[in-house]
Amino acid sequence: MMFSTRRFLCLALTLWAALLTSASAFRTVVIDAGHGGKDDGAKRYGVKEKDLNLDTAKRLEKILQRKGFHVVMTRRTDKFLPLQQRAKIANRYQDAVFVSIHYNAHKNTSVKGIETFYATLEGRKLAAGIQDLLTTRIKQTRDRGIKIGKQYAVLNKTRIVSVLVEGGFISNPWERRRLNGAWYRQMVAEQIAKGILIHR
Ligand SMILES: [Zn+2]
Repeated sequence: MMFSTRRFLCLALTLWAALLTSASAFRTVVIDAGHGGKDDGAKRYGVKEKDLNLDTAKRLEKILQRKGFHVVMTRRTDKFLPLQQRAKIANRYQDAVFVSIHYNAHKNTSVKGIETFYATLEGRKLAAGIQDLLTTRIKQTRDRGIKIGKQYAVLNKTRIVSVLVEGGFISNPWERRRLNGAWYRQMVAEQIAKGILIHR
């Protein structure tokens, strides 16, 4: 009898803890469109990373707002924003996650694919989820995996769960054509949104 009461209490505590955890689940997502203004980011044949980043960020914003999230954008226009400023915006929030959106470049034009960076254990979980969703849905890409990105100020200066998504290579001609397509950026936004929803 004593034993089963203890077991019951244990179960009740576990459930209570689970409820508490879900009750404190984040409702805010800070979306960071990488680069902007005088900082183009990667650039090849007139395709500028800053523009692709902002477009993808706005698509993600729309999806997340429809799902009931409070969305904060570090920038909504083509303006320059220092990295510290981006982290500062993120750190205004506690129950929140931070997603920085980028596209990649490499001097070797055959390099292609998607990769996601993180800086903490919790960030690693979110990064793994997003990376998996992106590379499962987007066909003929290359899964470059998740990586520790402690060198990124937007990851190591933010106190909330943070990831940085590199959605493809502007320097790869075939991939650049795809990144230029709205359908591709919509897919990137949708998969990131799904990853955030699952993490919640
Ligand atoms: Zn970038």
